[in-house]
Amino acid sequence: MSDTTIFPSLEIPETIAAGPGPGNTDPRVLAAFAQTGIADHMQADVLRGMIECKHMLRDVWGTKNTYTFGVAGTGWSGLDCMMNAILPGDTVVAFVNGTFSGIDGLTIRMRASTREELAANALDPQPASVTIVEVPHGQSVTGEIVEKALAAHKPKWAFMAHWETGSGRINDLQGFNDACVKHDAMGLIDAVSSLGIEDFSIDDYPGVVGWASCPQKGVLCLPLTYAPVSFSDRYINELKTNGSYSWVHNAIMEGRHWGIIDGQDAEAGTYHRTHSAYAVAAFHEALRINLQHGRAQKAQDYAFHEKALRDAVALMGCEVTSNMTSLVVLNLPADFAGREKELVQSCRAKGFGIWPTLSEPVQVRIGILNLANREAITDIVTRFGQAMQDMGAEVDMDAVSALLTNHYDAALAAQ
Ligand SMILES: *Cc1c(COP(=O)(O)O)cnc(C)c1O
Repeated sequence: MSDTTIFPSLEIPETIAAGPGPGNTDPRVLAAFAQTGIADHMQADVLRGMIECKHMLRDVWGTKNTYTFGVAGTGWSGLDCMMNAILPGDTVVAFVNGTFSGIDGLTIRMRASTREELAANALDPQPASVTIVEVPHGQSVTGEIVEKALAAHKPKWAFMAHWETGSGRINDLQGFNDACVKHDAMGLIDAVSSLGIEDFSIDDYPGVVGWASCPQKGVLCLPLTYAPVSFSDRYINELKTNGSYSWVHNAIMEGRHWGIIDGQDAEAGTYHRTHSAYAVAAFHEALRINLQHGRAQKAQDYAFHEKALRDAVALMGCEVTSNMTSLVVLNLPADFAGREKELVQSCRAKGFGIWPTLSEPVQVRIGILNLANREAITDIVTRFGQAMQDMGAEVDMDAVSALLTNHYDAALAAQ
């Protein structure tokens, strides 16, 4: 007698991913993934595809950085590759204003700890060389905050999330860059939520030496494909001089499979790890979609559709505290405060995947990744309004519907 249970084959339904990420994977990306033949990681078209991805990614991100490629995995994988150059004892100032930059701050504290500091509190070390500057949830990191902290601490590294998805706040990238240049700190940016949504170019920010993003938010690809990263020559020199405690996530070594060898673009990549033909094909198609849409146009489209959603939930009595254009973070009307998780659960039970915040205070998050069109926004607003009504809120859906009609018809008329 065996205890083995063979479960029925797993079926996962189609839902609306209306959270902070993952986004709704583009059908073109899914098709590229599914139609890819069985091929190994050194097959010529796979290697060519990786090199084409590298070139397209440089365009999507506005950079001439040679070390621009994808790290297999999700956002944390790219971030881990980027943080890899931080060594025990390094001085770092990190700005934290929500869940994700909070975890980035923890990664930095782990990496910068000495052995003694790590052993003293292995899961939450507090190294003397790292300064965490906490900015309250719901507020942005401003240039003044960064300038003040870098002037005071003169760190080797500075870190900030560009868009903090936990609280839905855009942080001041220009101010961060300027302070890094002024105080000669090497800037590191978590661009997981901003790449593919905001219209910005890496090369406009010379104070930032390392960037990391993810596959499945603005870039429109599948999770566990490729997390985009990009490194300036200064970062690569730092890595070359001082090393890192990882082989797999060492950018100089990882870059080789993408055809970046000794700082130069090579004809073809050499082995670093078993890359997936499916993942390469999916990433390739996602980058093509981004370039075809155009960075400026895509950014404009998100801003336009986010405004419709923001105005609609405000009309329902909610208070929006975010300023990202891919995500609305809101407080329910005062009478319903405390019932955020219940509302989110009831929506999720119906295949409408919205989210609460993952750290205090509890708020509701509604995202529009790859849902930036009239039909999808109308569907989201209708479902959310219905869920509020089911909870007992009085929502004037006729007024909400008129607001959306106005927003979209006015835009049509203006064309
Ligand atoms: C989503 C997110 C992450 C984590 O990305 P994963 O893909 O879940 O690993 C990190 N930072 C920010 C700002 C994010 O939005």
